[in-house]
Amino acid sequence: MDDSYRRIPLWENVSPEDWEDWHWQLRNRIYTADQLRQVIRLTPEEEEACSKKQGRLVMAIPPYWVSLMDPEDPRCPIRRQAVPLMEEFNIGPHDMRDPCGEDSDMPVPGLVHRYPDRVLFLVTEQCAMYCRHCTRRRLVGENHGLMNSYEATFEYLRNHKEVRDVLISGGDPLMMTDVRLGQVLARLREIPHLEFIRIGSRTPVTMPQRVTPEFCEVLKKYKPIWMSLHFCHPKEVSPRLKTAMEMLADSGVPLGSQTVLLHGVNDDPVVMKKLMHELLKVRVRPYYIYQCDMAQGITHFRTSVEAGIRIMEALRGHTSGYAVPTYVIDGPGGGGKIPVGPSYVISSKEGVVTLRNFEGKIYTYYEPGSVPELVPASAKSNGNGNGNGFHGVPLYVP
Ligand SMILES: *Cc1c(COP(=O)(O)O)cnc(C)c1O
Repeated sequence: MDDSYRRIPLWENVSPEDWEDWHWQLRNRIYTADQLRQVIRLTPEEEEACSKKQGRLVMAIPPYWVSLMDPEDPRCPIRRQAVPLMEEFNIGPHDMRDPCGEDSDMPVPGLVHRYPDRVLFLVTEQCAMYCRHCTRRRLVGENHGLMNSYEATFEYLRNHKEVRDVLISGGDPLMMTDVRLGQVLARLREIPHLEFIRIGSRTPVTMPQRVTPEFCEVLKKYKPIWMSLHFCHPKEVSPRLKTAMEMLADSGVPLGSQTVLLHGVNDDPVVMKKLMHELLKVRVRPYYIYQCDMAQGITHFRTSVEAGIRIMEALRGHTSGYAVPTYVIDGPGGGGKIPVGPSYVISSKEGVVTLRNFEGKIYTYYEPGSVPELVPASAKSNGNGNGNGFHGVPLYVP
């Protein structure tokens, strides 16, 4: 058992059994500047932001996540995602309380039905850690009573046969006990038209101790359950994290990752590619990279869209296709996920499609019905096409 956490004086006397107990991790989360000062060297700006509690998302950091932090470097990506800065109190002119327009797409409280065949089911307002870049910060960290009962949601789902896919999220569904989560899954499994159930969670990343054999049994019992995890930096793929991923993957749970593009954390093609590779090594398939939403108080995390496109350009073709997620912008106000990326189609005219590849080389594709279609089959399939097609010269033999 890894006991490297014992180098942190605050936890030097904690037994590995306690450290491995997710309830201990939750109970011993860091909530205040006084506690945080005992584990990392705070900058004056961090001091101020941690001490000023009104008007920002609550801070809560599990000891495991702290153990990944660089205690000296304020730019540490693990730290940046967990420790507030004064910039969180700045509300920009375009910032929104509900940037994805979820509240207006809720037929019942806690259920977002935006797309034709699938819903987002928010089951709790709690998380193991409150990410500083949280887009749903209007809802999480405090009890708004939005998710006190799921009966209206189950009723809605029973009555809406067009829904075939339920994404269970929050907050973080893994803040529920195994028993409670099992009850929710059992109720969903009773509804015959729900054919695809997934859990969106960051807890396995911020507190991998939550992934217990008992939890894996629940997932197996209601299989197939897919999981969408949330990773932002290669440092998150720690030895302890690897064990948790192994348990989930060995339990037959297909794993995906969603990453938010964050200034100063991962807005760098080298860091992003490394993250994608680390994920594949632990059987997590990169699913989405999100442009950072226009939520209130996270403007300092936002990057240009160009930065995201440059990252996609650096991935596609340069590494395994499995390491290339889809880059999306959630349309502000409720547009849903809109894919964006480099364009590889240079022109398309009268059935002649000009493309570039990842190296910038130019290729021509002739659609059926385009003039070069008239070329006899024998002339076309010479078997050693180098991708340059007919070099733009239509070979027409009358
Ligand atoms: C992201 C999201 C989904 C799931 O979308 P997929 O592209 O299928 O992963 C469903 N509902 C809402 C409201 C969402 O934001």
